[in-house]
Amino acid sequence: MNSKLFGIYGASGFGREVLPLVRNLISNEDKIVFIDDNKTVEILNNIQVLSFDEFLVSDFSEKKITIAIADSKTRENIVNKLIENNIDSFDVIANNVIVMDDINIDEGYILTPHVTLTSNISIGKYFHANLYSYVAHDCVIGDYVTFAPSVKCNGNVHIEDHAYIGTGAIIKQGKPNKPLIIGKGAVVGMGAVVTKNVKAGDVVFGNPAKSLKRG
Ligand code: UDP
Repeated sequence: MNSKLFGIYGASGFGREVLPLVRNLISNEDKIVFIDDNKTVEILNNIQVLSFDEFLVSDFSEKKITIAIADSKTRENIVNKLIENNIDSFDVIANNVIVMDDINIDEGYILTPHVTLTSNISIGKYFHANLYSYVAHDCVIGDYVTFAPSVKCNGNVHIEDHAYIGTGAIIKQGKPNKPLIIGKGAVVGMGAVVTKNVKAGDVVFGNPAKSLKRG
């Protein structure tokens, strides 16, 4: 069979949002399936749901996966499974995403409608940017970072691996010689206004954002 099989890992809310974007990226002969480790239905939004093992044995000349699961540790575990099984990932980008100048972005990203990446930005692997989020100039974003919708990440901000930025959060711009840093695995709550560095593993909320862990 010459057609390709495109798997969307995660048959839940985000997976269903990513499905129409994948439809726009593939040709008519290709097929899309959902993949889920806890599948409860055989068909979702008119698309077949497979277990990972069923995907592996499907008879297609080329098979690729995008990981549409917001939890970053889950994404990393699934990436390791893909590597073990020699399955490539594919990137997803909505047709109205704005990518300006000198953007370096690693594999596995999902950029949903109305996302903007401005200029001189570096982004690691398996980045998710949800609806209407932006990343401004000179930001450096690590691996497995997740932006919920409408994140406003201003210039000269560094976000380390596995950080999660909640809906509508605003991150103040840093300086070229002193970027604002959001540490590894930190969580920024929805609507937070981040005005200073966030330590690795911390959880911050509010305006100005304060640590939930440190009181
Ligand atoms: N899931 C999976 N393998 C895992 C962890 C999660 O297949 O190791 C699936 C899970 O069964 C669910 C989806 O991923 O269907 C995650 O859905 P959820 O609503 O929790 O998150 P979202 O869609 O918002 O990312």
